[in-house]
Amino acid sequence: MQTNLADFIRDTPEGREADAILRKCVHCGFCTATCPTYLLLGDENDGPRGRIYLMKQALEDAAITGHTRLHLDRCLTCRACETTCPSGVRYGRLLDIGRKLVEAKTARPLWERLKRRALAAVLARRSVFALLLALGRLARPLLPGAIARSVPRKAPDSGAWPAPRRARRMLVLAGCVQPGLAPRINAAAARVLDRMGVSLVEAKGAGCCGALRHHLNFQDDGLDDARALIDAWWPHVEAGVEAIVMTASGCGVMVKEYGELLEHDARYAAKAKRISELTKDASEILSVHRETLETLLDRSARNANRERGTRVAFHSPCTLQHGQQIHGVVEQLLGAAGYQLTAVPDAHLCCGSAGTYSILQPKLSRQLLANKVTALESGSPTVVATANIGCLAHIQTGTRLTVRHWVELLDEATGRVGEETAASTPD
Ligand code: SF4
Ligand code: SF4
Repeated sequence: MQTNLADFIRDTPEGREADAILRKCVHCGFCTATCPTYLLLGDENDGPRGRIYLMKQALEDAAITGHTRLHLDRCLTCRACETTCPSGVRYGRLLDIGRKLVEAKTARPLWERLKRRALAAVLARRSVFALLLALGRLARPLLPGAIARSVPRKAPDSGAWPAPRRARRMLVLAGCVQPGLAPRINAAAARVLDRMGVSLVEAKGAGCCGALRHHLNFQDDGLDDARALIDAWWPHVEAGVEAIVMTASGCGVMVKEYGELLEHDARYAAKAKRISELTKDASEILSVHRETLETLLDRSARNANRERGTRVAFHSPCTLQHGQQIHGVVEQLLGAAGYQLTAVPDAHLCCGSAGTYSILQPKLSRQLLANKVTALESGSPTVVATANIGCLAHIQTGTRLTVRHWVELLDEATGRVGEETAASTPD
């Protein structure tokens, strides 16, 4: 694609990056076929190729209107288009640059601005979110049906978090909303890794990874969150943690990109790069240690899973399959543990959660959720599993099946043998 970026941005780092991305796009349109919003709305401007063209116009200083912003707002940032693109166009990065520019050059209505600010303030602060969640649960019986259903029920007991007794250590991100909604996820990951001879620890003072505010287009605030998290983690990195484990793929994709997002920050560039190198999705960690894991798989639990016919429909979050390009790894781990994976049609399509998308674009989000639940339930599973807290909470609002994190299922499958082995395993 030929470009002619405007003077105000051409020679900036963002301008050069955007120009290089735009020039890779050959306008073939393959990406539109896998874009969830294009499939729903059928409008070229609600697909990747149209949005790329809108951003090109903005970067070339053509008039930017509320319509440009609307089409960019409707993008889920699912990055299915990146997986499909044969030319390697980094659409997600272009969208960051395009959204920042369009936000600066247009004025949102006051109500929208307030809503986005409130979401950024509440969701990215663990204690504020936990407090509001507790109040919502108290008020649940008094709320109208649809609103009451959107308030997640009290999380089941997390079980014990093993003492940090191992010489081998890994960090895990607690995150912002996950501790309030599903504290059992990290506890389950800690138990599985403890049985494998690794202590999983959360760093004191570690907060949100920044993805939430970044995707609400408060990109500078998101980078401040990233810097704060790097500061909280750094003493553990210097102390020699082997890896930083992500149990939420939405956070994982963000932290893996710290190195790139902070490459022009002289103070943080080197640290950010190191943090990104250390960061792994929990499925990557467990698949590397697959042999150890298999020795821990309780034969009777595995057989019981098979006999009971525990049928799992796995929803691979966009941030796992498109953002991190991790394909089939969780499915293999669950299969090794005796779970039967059911077929899920159109597994590449987003469930409609997408950070705060379900709140900011409720109509489109509900349509995507309905399609996703139909696809997940089509193989008659007994449980739905996923890898990201946002997807988990969102899908749970649309199905009677229980939605769990896959690591909880592995925790159960490694439980009995794991405890016996862990008790006899030296540090
Ligand atoms: S598939 Fe890639 S090259 Fe083709 S239009 Fe989409 S982004 Fe451009
Ligand atoms: S990120 Fe997802 S919603 Fe946005 S253009 Fe790409 S495929 Fe479509």
